[in-house]
Amino acid sequence: MENIPLWYGLILFFALGACVGSFYNVIVYRMPRGISLINPPSHCPLCKKRIPIYYNLPIVGWLWLRGKSACCKQPISVIYPIGESLCGLLGAIALFSANYNIPFTAPIANWTDALAMFWLLLGMYPVCAIDVKYKLIPDSISVGGIVVGLVLSMFPGGITPFESLLGAIGAGGGLWLLGFVATKILKKDAMGFGDVKLLAGYGALMGVNGAVETLILAALLGIVVMIPWAKIAEKKGLSDNSGQIPFGPFLAVSAPVMYLWGQSLLNLYVQFVIGE
Ligand SMILES: [Zn+2]
Repeated sequence: MENIPLWYGLILFFALGACVGSFYNVIVYRMPRGISLINPPSHCPLCKKRIPIYYNLPIVGWLWLRGKSACCKQPISVIYPIGESLCGLLGAIALFSANYNIPFTAPIANWTDALAMFWLLLGMYPVCAIDVKYKLIPDSISVGGIVVGLVLSMFPGGITPFESLLGAIGAGGGLWLLGFVATKILKKDAMGFGDVKLLAGYGALMGVNGAVETLILAALLGIVVMIPWAKIAEKKGLSDNSGQIPFGPFLAVSAPVMYLWGQSLLNLYVQFVIGE
């Protein structure tokens, strides 16, 4: 692990991201159809034949088969390899963002931030897609984030385990309290518990400060999107529920931004306000 040069690590992280993307393709196809993610093993949706494992390789499998299934020569959508490539790119970006200041031939210096960024960047897609479609945030991402954060905090380079634990409790508890108060005042559900768990995960990954910064950016983005959307929804006559925008995607997009640039943005803001 200590001697892997950055250029080689980038290829590994790209491949890892592409595998995650490939898994997302499976979820997107199977979950709405109520098929288990593991069983049955992957088979052709058209002729039901088993797909051998080597054709399931992300991107490579599609290119190898030139976009046609091996069993019945039906076209396979180009969306699949594109999605896998994008996820691969996010994986490589995660590693690079944590090691941008070393030469490509130097050994990887910062694994902790790279893995945290990998989790945050690759987590954006499921949070956005599932929260928009089903109005919920999967526990594997939110509670999973708490676990990943706590585990990563045990390695040097990032926040300490204490800061991580405090981040999870402080950020999750704070947002829960905020939602509780808002619900009392507005007399309707103001904050889903999924959002609370998601922010607790971000707290475990980046500490209380990072999670609060994420919440602020998400709220700002939310306002920018929700005000025009509310007008459109009103015009189209969408009911209260179908016109509602979930908050999870704003958190998910804000988290990697604040993980990377939270401190710089805060400094910039302080400079701007105090003017020195
Ligand atoms: Zn087939």
